[in-house]
Amino acid sequence: MTAELKSTLLPLLKTHFGYDTFKANQLEVIGDVLSKKDVLAIMPTGGGKSLCYQLSALALEGTAIVISPLIALMKDQVDVLKANGIAAAYYNSSQTGETQQRTFQELTQGELKLLYVAPESLGLLDSVLLDITISIFAVDEAHCISSWGHDFRPAYTRLGGLKERFPHIPIIALTATADKTTQEDIVAQLDIPTAQQHLASFNRPNLFLEVKPAQDRIKHILAFLEERPKESGIIYCLSRKSTEAVAAKLVASGYKAQAYHAGMSAEERSTAQEGFITDSVPIVVATIAFGMGIDKSNVRWVIHYNLPKNIEGYYQEIGRGGRDGLPAHALLFYSFADVAQLRKFIATSDNATVEYAKLERMQQFAEALSCRRIALLNYFGEHATAACGNCDICKYPPAYFDGTVLAQKICSAVARLREKEAMGMVIDVLRGAQNAQVFEKGYQNIKTYGAVMDISWQDLQQYVIQLLNQGVLSINFKEGARLGLTPLAKEVLFAKKPIAFATIKRASDTPKRTTKAKTTKTGLFEKLRELRHQIATDEGVPAYVVFGDASLKDMEAKLPKTKEEFESVSGVGRAKLEKYATVFLEEIAEHVAVKKSKTPTHLKTYSLFKSGLSIPEIAAQRALAENTIYGHLVKSESEGKTIDLHQFLTGKELDAIADAKEDLPEAQGLKAFFDYFEEQMPYWKLKIGLYLLDG
Ligand code: ADP
Ligand code: MG
Ligand code: ZN
Repeated sequence: MTAELKSTLLPLLKTHFGYDTFKANQLEVIGDVLSKKDVLAIMPTGGGKSLCYQLSALALEGTAIVISPLIALMKDQVDVLKANGIAAAYYNSSQTGETQQRTFQELTQGELKLLYVAPESLGLLDSVLLDITISIFAVDEAHCISSWGHDFRPAYTRLGGLKERFPHIPIIALTATADKTTQEDIVAQLDIPTAQQHLASFNRPNLFLEVKPAQDRIKHILAFLEERPKESGIIYCLSRKSTEAVAAKLVASGYKAQAYHAGMSAEERSTAQEGFITDSVPIVVATIAFGMGIDKSNVRWVIHYNLPKNIEGYYQEIGRGGRDGLPAHALLFYSFADVAQLRKFIATSDNATVEYAKLERMQQFAEALSCRRIALLNYFGEHATAACGNCDICKYPPAYFDGTVLAQKICSAVARLREKEAMGMVIDVLRGAQNAQVFEKGYQNIKTYGAVMDISWQDLQQYVIQLLNQGVLSINFKEGARLGLTPLAKEVLFAKKPIAFATIKRASDTPKRTTKAKTTKTGLFEKLRELRHQIATDEGVPAYVVFGDASLKDMEAKLPKTKEEFESVSGVGRAKLEKYATVFLEEIAEHVAVKKSKTPTHLKTYSLFKSGLSIPEIAAQRALAENTIYGHLVKSESEGKTIDLHQFLTGKELDAIADAKEDLPEAQGLKAFFDYFEEQMPYWKLKIGLYLLDG
C-alpha cells in the first residue's frame, strides 16, 4: 500500500513543490487522509505540516478548506501556493466585498484546490460549503482550539461542530504543541475520537543550540551579528520596553532591526512583520507575541535575550529558525535575574506549581553540562542518548578541575551568612566587596570575607550555579532567593567531599564559525539572492515565495546549465521551472563564465601544476617564462595552497642563500643576491629560497 502510494505521490511532490523526498511522517499522514481518516499530526515547527494537507488536497477531488488563525499571514501562504501554480485563495474579514465575492464565485465553480479561511469567517461560508465538493478540512495550529494550550483562540471553538455537519469529510488537525493534555483536548474538541495520531520526532538537527551567561548581552549580540551580515533573525525579549531598547541599539550600530510587541498598533505590527518577511528589515526584536504561523524559511538565527519561561515556548521559538533545513543558530542568554523575574510573574498564576516546575526544567537546560539536545528531546519524551554534535556542549565540551577548596569556601560563606543572603551578596562577601550593603551588615568582619579575591564576579557566579546544580546549595525563591546548604554541603564542609567544577568558557573561546567563508566562497549565492530580491519586488511577494535559501544553495552546488538540470534543483516544480529557469540559468552561466576568465593567473598556473604538468610544460602551455611560473607557485603557496617548495632547491642551495642573507642584512629585493652569487643562482631559486627562509 505505502509503496504504491509513494509512487503516485512522489511525482505530485516534485511537480507541484519541487521536492524529491518526503519529510518524516508526511507520507504517513497523507496516506491516512487519502483513505478518508481523520488525523492529528504533531510535527515540530518547520517539520512540513502545510505540505501534508496541501498535497492531500491536490491528490483529492474538490476543495480543501484550511482553517488558519492568522489573517495577516494567509496572503503569504496563498502566494506560496500560487507561485507553485496551485489554485488557492483565502477568505477573511480584511478583504473588500468585491474580492470576497470573486473568491466565493471561484469556490462555487469548483476552481479552487485550497481555500484558507479564518475561523471567524467560517460561519459566512456555511451555506456555500453545503453546495460544493470539499476534499478535506485542515485545521492548522490546532492547539488554538484548546484552552489548555498556550495560544487559545475562542473562535476556534466553532470548529467543534464541523464533524457533525460533515461526517464524511476527513479532518486533519496539525500542531507543533508537544503537550499531551493539549493533544487530547484537540481530539475531543474537534470531535474526532478515532483520529489517527502521527507524532514526528521533535529533533531539529540543523539548529545549533548555545547558551551563554547574560553579561554584556548587547556586546555579544553585536559580535554575533557582525559575523552574519544580511542574515535574518529574531531576538526574543521578556518585556516590551527591552524590545524597543535592544532594537534601538542595533539600529544605532547600523543594523536594520525593528521592535515588535503587542503594545504597538495593528498597523505598526503588520509593517514590522511585512518588513521581516520580505527581508527589507531582516531583524525583529520581539516579545513572544511574534512568530506564530510565520512561514519564513530563511530565519538563520534566533536569540533569547531573556530566559523563556518553559521549554515548550523556547523550542517553539527557536523552531522558527532554519525551516529550510539549512543550519541555523539558537543562542540563549541565561541569568538569575531573569529567573527571579519569571518567578515573580508565576507567583500570581493559578497554575503556579506546574509553572515553577517548568521553569526549573528550563533552568536545568540552560545550566546543562552535557548535550543540550539530549536534554530537550528527553523533555519531549523522546529517549535520546547519543550526543548530538551540534550544541555548544558537544562542540566545546567543558573541562573539569578539582574545585573542592573553592566549594568549601563558598559553602562556608553561605554558612557564615547564616543562609540568609542571596547569591549576589554571597559573591560580594567572598570577593571582599567594599560596598554599602556589605558594610551595613558588618559582613567585612566574617571569616570568609575576601576568601576568593582571585576569581571574577561573573565566574564566581557560575561556580555558585554549578553548586546549585550539583545539589550542594539550594535556593529559596520564596524568601528573597536566599542561598541555603543541603546535606551535601555539610559533606563538603566537614567531610572534605571532593567537588569538580567545569571550567568557565569565555565568549571569545568559542571559535569563529567557518560557514561564513563557505557561503561567500563563490559569491554566486549572493548574486542569486539579489536576483531573487528583484523578482520578489517586481511581483510584490516575499523573497521566499520565489525560492527558499535551500533552493539557491542547491543551485550554487549544482551549477545547472540546462532546463533539465535546473529541474533537479530542490524546490523547483513545474510552475517555477517555467517561470524562473531562464533568468536563473542566465545568472548562473554568467557567474561561471566570469569566474573562469577571472581566475588569477597564478592560480591557473597552480591548477596546471596540481594536474601533474612539469614547470617547462606549464611555461610552454601558458607561453610564460619559467621564472614567472615559479613566482606563481610561491604566490599560491603564500595564499595557503599546499606546494612543497623545497623540491625546487637542494639543501646546499638553501644554506648558501641563508649565508647570503646574513652577509647582506640591508639587501632589498633580489638583485643584490643575484649579484652576490655572481649571476650563478637563478632569480627563481633566490625567490623561493628567501621565501622559505622568511617562512
Ligand atoms: P510547519 O510544520 O512549521 O508548518 P512548513 O509547512 O511551513 O512547516 O514547512 C517548513 C519548510 O519545509 C517550508 O519551507 C517547506 O517548503 C519545506 N518543506 C516541506 N516539505 C518538504 C519536503 N518534503 N522536502 C523539502 N522541503 C519541504
Ligand atoms: Mg505551519
Ligand atoms: Zn549536543
